[in-house]
Amino acid sequence: QFSPELDIDRRDEIGQLAKSFQHMTVRLSENDRIRKEFISDVSHDFQSPLLNIKGYAELLMDSSVPEVERKNYAKVIQSETERLSSLTKQLMLLTSLDQLASPLRKEAFRLDKQIKEVTLRYRWLMEEKGISLSMYLDEAKFLGDPSFLEKVWENLLSNALKYTEAGGTIDISLTNRKDELAVSFCDSGIGIDEEHLERIFDRFYRVDESRTKEIPGTGLGLPIVQQIVQLHGGTIHAQRNLDQGMTFAVNLPKA
Ligand code: ADP
Repeated sequence: QFSPELDIDRRDEIGQLAKSFQHMTVRLSENDRIRKEFISDVSHDFQSPLLNIKGYAELLMDSSVPEVERKNYAKVIQSETERLSSLTKQLMLLTSLDQLASPLRKEAFRLDKQIKEVTLRYRWLMEEKGISLSMYLDEAKFLGDPSFLEKVWENLLSNALKYTEAGGTIDISLTNRKDELAVSFCDSGIGIDEEHLERIFDRFYRVDESRTKEIPGTGLGLPIVQQIVQLHGGTIHAQRNLDQGMTFAVNLPKA
């Protein structure tokens, strides 16, 4: 706790010191609050699938349950296990990004090729959902960590796919500018209301649970994207399209 004996109104060095102590204390308690909130969110997100798994496993052991029902219970157990597994993977990735001890492992690679490869992996899902994709990718070399950046495109594309209804469109562009590379993912999906835009990069934040609860997610995808982009000295902005859907714009400095 900040010592009340130090007078922050003093104009000398002691006053300066007192001010900076006070500043530090505020920041530390803020960190503490974020840490506590994070632990409570993580526990909550683990708790609900675990309860489901336990409950359905118990039902499976009940011999009076008919065979057809058993299959459904097993399916719930399977999807809840997948949810836990993706949550764990994302948490591990976030922790490793938080604790990155050494500078990024940078190498030169073709960003346009990487984005194209990622989209190829999702082609079947796009076909299944009847979503059409258009891409305008300038040729572009970039110096960065390819495995981290791959996660950025993967998360942005999987969100665009998750939050866009059948028959929608996704447009991806990469513009090779003098000092930076500008990448944008634009979809014709359900969009995000203005009031939520500020919070979508917060850990565990999901817009209006009732609206997205049918769509599986952890609320960790965008925080991961933002952290990786920032580690490369870049920025990310989310914007509502004039007609419908969202555009996520990533700018990566070349130097
Ligand atoms: P999630 O795992 O829930 O998708 P994210 O961190 O990736 O978590 O995204 C946070 C929230 O932002 C999502 O729950 C969703 O409500 C909203 N969101 C993200 N991308 C889009 C998009 N392309 N269109 C509409 N809503 C989106």
